[in-house]
Order: sequence, then structure tokens, then C-alpha cells
Amino acid sequence: MNWYELSQEEVEKLTNSNTKVGLSDKESERKLKEFGYNQLQEAKKPSAILVFLGQFKDFMVLVLLAATLLSGMLGEYLDAIAIILIVIMNGILGFIQERKAEKSLAALRELSAPTVTVLREGSWTNLPAKELVVGDVVKISSGDRVGADLRLISAKGLYIEESALTGESLPVHKSSDSIRGRELPLGDQSNMAFMGTMVTRGNGVGIVIGTGMKTEMGKIAHLIQSAETLLTPLQLKLEQLGKILIVIALLLTVLVVAVGVYEGHDLYSMILSGVSLAVAAIPEGLPAIVTIALALGVQKMIKRKAIVRKLPSVETLGCATVICSDKTGTLTQNKMTVTHLWKEGQTWNVTGSGDSTGEFLRKGKKCNIENDETLLQLLSYSILCNNAELVYSENRDSYTINGDPTEAALVVSGLKAGITKESLLEQIEILDEFPFDSTRKMMSVVIQNKNSEKFVITKGAPDVLLQKCDYIIWDGKRQLIRQQHIEKVKEAIMSLGSQALRTIAVAYKPLKSADDATSARSAESHLTFVGLQGMIDPPRPEVRRSIKDCQKAGIKTVMITGDHVVTASAIARQLDILPPNGKVVDGASLQAMSEEELEREVENIYVYARVSPEHKLKIVKALQKRGHVVAMTGDGVNDAPAIKSANIGVAMGITGTDVAKEASSLVLSDDNFATIRAAIEEGRNIYENIRKFIRYLLASNVGEILVMLFAMLLKMPLPLLPIQILWVNLVTDGLPAMALGVDPAEDNVMKREPRKSNEGVFSRGLGWKIISRGFMIGAVTTLAFWIALKENPDFLIRAQTIAFCTLVMAQLIHVFDCRSERSVFHRNPFQNIYLVLAVLSSVLLLLVAMYIPFLQSIFHTIPLNLRDWLLVIGMASIPTFALAGFQVFKR
Ligand code: ATP
Repeated sequence: MNWYELSQEEVEKLTNSNTKVGLSDKESERKLKEFGYNQLQEAKKPSAILVFLGQFKDFMVLVLLAATLLSGMLGEYLDAIAIILIVIMNGILGFIQERKAEKSLAALRELSAPTVTVLREGSWTNLPAKELVVGDVVKISSGDRVGADLRLISAKGLYIEESALTGESLPVHKSSDSIRGRELPLGDQSNMAFMGTMVTRGNGVGIVIGTGMKTEMGKIAHLIQSAETLLTPLQLKLEQLGKILIVIALLLTVLVVAVGVYEGHDLYSMILSGVSLAVAAIPEGLPAIVTIALALGVQKMIKRKAIVRKLPSVETLGCATVICSDKTGTLTQNKMTVTHLWKEGQTWNVTGSGDSTGEFLRKGKKCNIENDETLLQLLSYSILCNNAELVYSENRDSYTINGDPTEAALVVSGLKAGITKESLLEQIEILDEFPFDSTRKMMSVVIQNKNSEKFVITKGAPDVLLQKCDYIIWDGKRQLIRQQHIEKVKEAIMSLGSQALRTIAVAYKPLKSADDATSARSAESHLTFVGLQGMIDPPRPEVRRSIKDCQKAGIKTVMITGDHVVTASAIARQLDILPPNGKVVDGASLQAMSEEELEREVENIYVYARVSPEHKLKIVKALQKRGHVVAMTGDGVNDAPAIKSANIGVAMGITGTDVAKEASSLVLSDDNFATIRAAIEEGRNIYENIRKFIRYLLASNVGEILVMLFAMLLKMPLPLLPIQILWVNLVTDGLPAMALGVDPAEDNVMKREPRKSNEGVFSRGLGWKIISRGFMIGAVTTLAFWIALKENPDFLIRAQTIAFCTLVMAQLIHVFDCRSERSVFHRNPFQNIYLVLAVLSSVLLLLVAMYIPFLQSIFHTIPLNLRDWLLVIGMASIPTFALAGFQVFKR
């Protein structure tokens, strides 16, 4: 079917559509049942069994299996069973976490699934794109990904980039006229919009003619590969580190075995001890726990309204040094209310809030504006050149407004004077529209009145619009604009701006028959200035605090806005973004600056005003050159390049376009600056938690190896039997390390400078902490063993049980020390209840191995008495408390 050849009526008929009211819910439900969801088929996922088996092909797991074989061959079946149990438990853990990660990634995809604006049951609603059916009437506008294949029935300045289908990267101009021609290539079907292509400018409406696999995109779906899950930089580093640690652990094990044999222990028992030690010392759980910590952290971020689209950004968040934030909607509420009108050198106040009631005051006195021609012109032109819709709800007897908040505010100010678009359209027809864009900073319509006279009406940023005006209405007459008029308008802009008001100017032009108004450029020239509307957009109440928190955390906040310099500065001051010596730069000056100049200045600039989205990229580049890690927010199509090149691209969940979201690594589901702060805090904490359990696991492993090494060097008997080593590993590694992964943030997490992005895993003293604590754990365990042997040289099993207990307890006490970069005294141990429970269960597993008679023979243990326990606890406390005490003393 060549849809492009058909007329609108034919398309409507063939698809059972109705362009006035759209489909009914019943009809769309029926179609959805019959034809299925509007989705491309996904590649098949690996089955659960395969995922489970996949857990055993890891290098570290292979080492474990080799060890099993070895000890099995040596006749130690108990050890073989213990190792197999560990392998299986690891496999289960890996399987659960992989499934969990997959599920949370799927949930993320669902959260960022595209929505469409569709006409159903007579009103426009937002729906997930997958619910579209053939015959649906769909609205598309700049920044949207087209949700299905559409035959356009209206197009206003509509351009669509179709490179995904046609390879052509330049956007194609679209119209709604039918075209004749046989088998036109997709690129020439200018009245069609195809699923998956991107609207770069303008807006339009179309009828869905194909969904899911029946779209042009569906035909080539097999060519589209599913996105891979990215590993974070830390995961990559740990993958390399893991291999190094295996080699070190194996070397040390060989050393222990060699020294042991040299000192006269028999080869057979030394090899078995060595294998067990290797198994224990290899931190096989590390990668799994890192992923779980990341996945759980991401879930926590979602609860705080931040949706991470790319996992590596979780880490980058913790390194952010600058946040470049949009003003409108992110720092402010985006709830606009017109409070001032200005024309012919006079100002009116408008009372009332965002609803329809309010009065007009002149010098504080209520006044009647019905006879003021120019004021009525200002109000009604603002409504005609406007896409916000007023919806009257009968049961609530009030109005609600759909559309852009700036435009909505203008509709409300008109309503306060009793003017509605509906009433205006009885006299006037709108012929054409040039939509608003942030680069032009204005919007225009071409209208025609009952006498067939045509006009252009333009509204936009006053300082920009003023330059397009040759005339002004002054003293009730249209006259040539003179310098003194310009001065007056500028004064008004300044005065409104300094009250933090966003200003919109309105102008018009009568069109003579010879005049060209077919493009924005030709229409928006030689205009007549009418007046100004000034609106407040209050800052979000929580933002000021968040900015302060960021300052304390060494993160600078920069405001980037399309608004006027004076307005932007006033709000920046209210929010404490702009310090007394901070600089404000406008778009024109920024444009004039060379990259080097900007690089030199960039540290002192806090506000960029009247900039276009294209400028954002220049700002990001300059900041990055200065070594900053930049978070950049954005919502529109033109923001996408800057979002992409920022270290952390942040898109708005509510007002953001599909294109901006796709380019971003973080989406704010509430559009709120405070959420960026929250995400940074979570990002920092996730990284800190990963450091905590790396420290814990590695220090434990160092301790385990050193006990054996020290004993061998000191010509002592074996302090731990192989099965005990494996039990220590199982009891201490799993749960406590995972509980550290969900540790609540330390109170100073937002009071430190950002982490350097090139920081190594062991930086900031972590390596030293691991070695010193590990050394102490090894030393005190050896010491406890030595004391026990001294007391009773013939009672080896008692000394070994004491060593076994001391090693476990020293690690379980040390786990609380790992919660703080400062010292154990800085944190309340009961704050992390998971950790307390994990440690209690580990202690229980230790006691089980010592006090259950049947297990005593397997683990070669005896029950200890109170005095022995005092020795164990005393020794086990030393690594944590002695070092912490020493630090306190030193300070
Ligand atoms: P940011 O979101 O980056 O803080 P912004 O939303 O304030 O910026 P723009 O939307 O680019 O910036 O608006 C720039 C200027 O254009 C505004 O100050 C206003 O004067 C004018 N403007 C905004 N919206 C419209 C509109 N719908 N029609 C006409 N002019 C508009």
C-alpha cells in the first residue's frame, strides 16, 4: 500500500480512524488484542539454566574446581565436599545477582520507555508508545522519537531526521500533502513519519498506519543489535586486579607450602593446606558483590527519583565537580504566573495566582482595562500566538491548562480579562505557525480576520524581539520606533528582570498582499512592538539547600538559561549560585569568546544567560579542559550533543524530549535539581561502600595467609587445618561483605572534595589499611596460637581452635572498622542492621562448628572455656581498637 498517495480521508477510512476524536478506548483495546503491542521483537534471552551454568566458567571458579579435584584425589573427601559446596553457593549467589541485575535493568528500560501523545475518546493523552494501534491519531513535536509509522495529516515547520532508516543525516522537511509516484524511496515520502526516526523541529499530527514489526523499522529489526550492558570503570579495574590478586595469592600459598616443607612439615598436609589457603585467599566474591552494590545503589537512586541509564555513571557521579543546570523547571518550579503588564511606558500589576481569577491594578488601584485598546491587544495576541489549551472541567467548575507553562501563564492572564482563544477564533483564523525554538527565542503565527486582512503575531524574548521591530504602539498610535522608545522598553525589561520575572514581548505586523510570510525569517521582521508580560517562576524551595550542600561537597553549580541576564542573575542570587565576585555572561559575549578565552574565564563564571542550547557544548568543553568532571542538564533536541559529551548527561524526565533522554546517562523523574544532589550523594556512597568491602575482604585474606606464613617461619605446628581455613572463608566473606555494600552513607560523604576520576582502587590510604590491618589480624592470631601452645604444648587441638576463633572474631570486629575512612569510633555499629545480623549469623556459624559434637570431629575443634574466650576476644580486638586508639592518641 502506498499510503503517501492517498488523501487524508482515504487514510482515515482505510484505518478506521477519526481525526476529530481519535479512536475509542474499546476500539483501541480490540485492536491491541488482535494485532499485539507496538514493539519490535527482541532477541531471545538465555535460559535460567544457561545463566546458572555460566557462573562456573569464571577463572576463579575454575581454580576452585581444580582444588576440589586435587583434594578429592588426595582422599580428603570432606574438603572436596566443602569446596564443591562453596562452588555451588557461589554459583547460586552469582545466578541470583545476575538475575537481579537483569531485572533492575529491565525495570530501568521500562521507566525510560518512550511515551506518545495520542487522541483517544476526544482528548489528547499520553500513553506508552507500545500501546499504539493502527488508526490512532498521534501528535509529534520537536525532540520526539516517532512511535509508529504515520501518515501525516498536518505538519508545521516539521523536520524529521531519518538516518536510522535512510542513512541520510540531514533532517527532511515534511508536509501533509499527498504525493503521486510509484515506489518512492522512504526518503522521498515526505508526508510520512516512520517509527524510530527523530523530530528535530516543528510539530505535526499523523494517523498510525503501521505498528511493531509491520513498520519500516520492523522490516530491518534484525539488523538492530540489542545494547550491551556496560561495565563500570571500577568493575573493569577489579577484573584486572582480580587476576593479579589470584597470582599473588597463589605465589604466597606456594611460599607458605615451601617454607612449611623446608621446616619439616610433611608434603601431603602442606599441599592440602596450600590449596585451601589459595581457595580462601582468592577474593572470588568480589566482582559479584560489586555488581550487587551497584544494582542496589541504582534501586536506591530510583527511590530518590534519579534513573540511571548507564551504569558507569554511578561511579562518575561521585567525581562530579561542576553541575551545569538549566534554570526553568530544574532550579525553579516552572509554575509561571503573570504578575506585570507593561505598555507605552506604564506598568500594571496582575493579582491572583495560576487560576482564572485576578484583577488588574494600576499604581496599586484596581482599574478597568476594557477600554484600553493596546492592553487588550497585548493580552489577546499573547493568546493567539500560543499553543497552551484551556480545558474547562464542569464538575470542578474550574479551568486546567495543558501545555508549556510560559504559554499557560499568558492564557491565564488573558482569562483574567475575560479573553479566551475560543472567543477570538470566532473572528480570526490562524493560517500558519512558526513554532518557538530556543535559538530564535520567539514564536509567530499568521492570522486572518473577517475582513480577510492578514497579520503576523510574534511573541518572544523582549530584547531579541525589539531588534525585529521598526514600529511601536505609543500614545495609542502605531509609530516609527525611536531611540527614546527603545530606552523605555529596555528600562522596563531591566526593571521586570531585576524582580526575577521572566518577560515575554508581543509584536505584530499587518501583511500586505505582496509581503512574504512563508518562513520565520521573513515573517519575523519589520514588526510593531506592543508590550510586555512579566511572570514569576518561584525557585524550588529545596534547591537552595541542595546548592549549599554541593558547595560543601566541593561541587560548583552553574546556571545556564535562555532567560534574560537580569532575570537569571536575580534568581541566581536568590539561590546563592552567584557569589559577589562571580561573573554573568550572556550568549552574545559567549559567542564572541574564543575557546581559549572561555577556558581562562570559565572558573569565574556562574551564570550563562540568553544562551542557546548550542552554547552548552562550548561550556562543557571548556570546563573539561580545566580538568572538571561535568554534569550537564538538558531537555531539548539541541541539548543532546552537550548532554552526550558531558561526563554525566542529565535529562529531564517530565519535560525532556526522547532525544535528550536517549543521550543522557541520568534521568531526573521529577526534573528537580535537588535530585542531582541526591544522585551524587548516592553515587559517592556506592563507591565508598565498594571500597569498604574491598578493604574488608582483602585485609581478611592477607590475615589468613599471614597466620600460616608466620607459623611456618616461626617453626610452629599448623595453626589452622584446611577445613578450618575454608570455614573461615565461608563464614566471614559472604554476608558481612554484602552488608557493607548497603551501608548507609557516612555523615561526611557530602562534606569532602569530589573523588579524582583517575583515582586507583587502593588510593587514599586504602592499600595501607589493607596491609596494616591484614598484618595485625595475622599477627594476633599467631600470637594467640603461640600463647595457647606455651600454656599447654601437648594440647594442639585447643591451640588450633583458639587460632580459628581469633581469626574469625578479628575479621568480624574489623568489619565495623571498615565502615569508616576515619575510625571505628565515628560510626554507630547498630546503624547498619544488616551488618549486625550478618556478623551475628557468622558468629553463630563459628559456634556451631565448635559446640555441636558431630561437627567438632569434622572441624577438629573443642569447646573453649571462658578464659580461652577472653584470650580470643582480647587478641581479636587488637587490630581494630589498638590502631583506632593509636589514631585518636596521635590526633
Ligand atoms: P532554561 O530552561 O535553559 O533555563 P529557558 O527555558 O528559560 O531556559 P528558553 O525556553 O530558551 O529558556 O526561553 C528563552 C526566552 O524565550 C525566555 O526568556 C522567553 O523570553 C522566551 N520564551 C520562552 N518560551 C517562549 C514561548 N513559548 N514563546 C515565545 N517566547 C518564549
